[in-house]
Amino acid sequence: MLSVTEARRRVLARFQPVSTESLPLSECGQRVLAHDIAASEDLPLFDNSSMDGFALRAVDTLDADSSRITLRVIADIPAGLDPHISLEMGETARIMTGSPILLGADAVIPVEDTDFHHREAGSPAPKTITINRSVKPGEFVRPRGMDVRKGEPILNKGRRLKPQDVGLLAMLGVPNVQVYRKPRVALLSSGDELLEVDAPLESGKIRDSNSYTLAALIEDAGAEVIRLGVARDNLKAVERIFDKATRYHANLILSSAGMSVGAFDFVKEFIEAHGKLDFWRVNMRPGKPLAFGEYRGIQFIGLPGNPVSAFVGFEVFVREAIGRLAGLEMTVRPRVRVRLAEQIESDGRESYLRAVVLEDKDGLVAHLTGHQGSGNLLSLVRANALLIIPAGVKCVPAMQGIDAWLL
Ligand code: AMP
Ligand code: MG
Repeated sequence: MLSVTEARRRVLARFQPVSTESLPLSECGQRVLAHDIAASEDLPLFDNSSMDGFALRAVDTLDADSSRITLRVIADIPAGLDPHISLEMGETARIMTGSPILLGADAVIPVEDTDFHHREAGSPAPKTITINRSVKPGEFVRPRGMDVRKGEPILNKGRRLKPQDVGLLAMLGVPNVQVYRKPRVALLSSGDELLEVDAPLESGKIRDSNSYTLAALIEDAGAEVIRLGVARDNLKAVERIFDKATRYHANLILSSAGMSVGAFDFVKEFIEAHGKLDFWRVNMRPGKPLAFGEYRGIQFIGLPGNPVSAFVGFEVFVREAIGRLAGLEMTVRPRVRVRLAEQIESDGRESYLRAVVLEDKDGLVAHLTGHQGSGNLLSLVRANALLIIPAGVKCVPAMQGIDAWLL
């Protein structure tokens, strides 16, 4: 049986980024950047004040530590206004946070450090101010280019744009951005036992929960979901639903259940007969009956039917595959090292166990969230991590360190 590492290698080798599109900046949050971006301007754009106060010439304040000095206020500069005048000896100008530093000035004294105490909104500037401390050149001035230099690389291709990234692009006046299109994932469930969530319950039937979990995971991974519904347990029904996926031009077909050797596992039978099946079992727990193949040129991943197995299969294979399609540069989930609170038995397969990881004085410690049956979705709901027990390991004693994915 294939190891997780080998199965993942085979899957990922088959996914390349989709094409790109140009979007208005307002629609680019969370989208993946399709090219490197360098700064088109300096930031800040001009020398400006970092305080509400008075712009002045530092040399005029040299004696202020021993005697009070008085400066004449020649202008009042609100944010957004460039006065196009310059300061001469003994002069100052009232200035607001973000206002341009006027010519001749090289420092700002905060209003709190002057004798001007009328600071409420709307109060007019005084005729003069008195100060009793010297000011160093550059004090409370944010010089042009101190944050970002024109031409400096700022965002790399393959990065999912964060809120602060789109903010920075707005500062630089970038109205449109070339991003990767959202990959399209066609999602289906399979099984005669499955009911819609709002259908009356019938004896022997269960609700189709996987399509909800998986649709949310697909969106979280940055793709668009095409919900194909449930394929009943017969070849015709499976064929109909796979053909629907081709009409929607999906980049990936994702199914759950029907992949094993049960008498009613028609998904596997269908792909073997009408598509290409690369593998259909992986040496892992939960999630052994996991398939990879192709149908009419569309990659296909068949997840197991049990709800926790479907989730784990998604995290181990599908999230990274969607990341590749989406053009993401960094697709690997970071691992953290945690300490086990209790001894854990395993069966030698690579195992993913549901746990709560908490921080104590010695670092991160993990407790299992209940029995690890692959239908026990509540134990996944209560977990905030998956512990990864490597292949070949049958017992991990309490207190030992182990890798985990934080969910
Ligand atoms: P199968 O792979 O078809 O043998 O299904 C394995 C287990 O997963 C069975 O207990 C199914 O009832 C269950 N199962 C299959 N599909 C779903 C689904 N969409 N939602 C919830 N449980 C499912
Ligand atoms: Mg089934």
